[in-house]
Amino acid sequence: MFNRRSVLSGLAAGLVAASTPFATIAQEKLPVVASFSILGDFVRQVGGDRVNVTTLVGPDGDAHVYSPTPADAKTMATAKLIVVNGLKFEGWMTRLIKSSGTKAMIATATTGITPLKGDDDHGKAGHAHGHGHDHDIDPHAWQSVANAKVYVANIRDALVKADPAGKDAYEANATRYLAELDAVEGEIRAAVARIPAGRRKAITSHDAFGYFVKAYGIAFIAPQGVSTEAEASARDVARIIRQVKAEKVPAVFLENVTNPRLVEQIARESGAKIGGRIYSDALSDASGPAGTYIAMMKYNISEIEKALAANPA
Ligand code: ZN
Repeated sequence: MFNRRSVLSGLAAGLVAASTPFATIAQEKLPVVASFSILGDFVRQVGGDRVNVTTLVGPDGDAHVYSPTPADAKTMATAKLIVVNGLKFEGWMTRLIKSSGTKAMIATATTGITPLKGDDDHGKAGHAHGHGHDHDIDPHAWQSVANAKVYVANIRDALVKADPAGKDAYEANATRYLAELDAVEGEIRAAVARIPAGRRKAITSHDAFGYFVKAYGIAFIAPQGVSTEAEASARDVARIIRQVKAEKVPAVFLENVTNPRLVEQIARESGAKIGGRIYSDALSDASGPAGTYIAMMKYNISEIEKALAANPA
């Protein structure tokens, strides 16, 4: 039999042992900054409850033209890890890192991905305006699920480096999430296969779907280049309206991060229908249809399939 004293001291020791790690976790979650909402979701998926993620460019935000705030600089200064897309997506980031004085580790999520070039036609239009060279690289690599898996692997490795004690958790979370991404890849391919080959083409306002086009074989044409920074030229818009008519492009899509006016004009003048609003460079907020990367990819392909199907309702 235990005497009362030893039971009590045993209990007390048990309480201390059980409570200390919880208190430590609550106080010392790894502070991570993600430059935009899609990266924020990846970090949450892999980091789970070991990380505290702050996203700079939030839901429906346009990271191409973001202006960092003083609060962003403070967040950066206290971060242990900063995750960026790279490929010139966040042109404002280098200066923010410098001005914040952060000592955080910087992880570029697209490391190892083969970048696509921006559309040549837009390059030429850009030259006419004097800023064609800035946007030669297409930064929207997340629009292919195979690339998203590279992002996740890079983020996993960065988290392990920044917080070695969490290695097992990060690896287990990443393995589970990568398997979910494989399933999404299969769903997208199956949906594309259901769209008649001659109708696998659409318009968006800015050129955000180059990696999607390459991976899944639906042609997206855009009057605006791979950044939202430069306006579409009247000539590019006119050319696309002619192309929509000549090639009978079934649908144009609005984007969550861009002004709908341009695409509405193309629809009106070409007779193509508006196929809905898809998510290019940012998630929706949690109550919307694209609150996570996986929800976004599923929502986009379901909107695309609905609009391009042979017999729209
Ligand atoms: Zn974009």
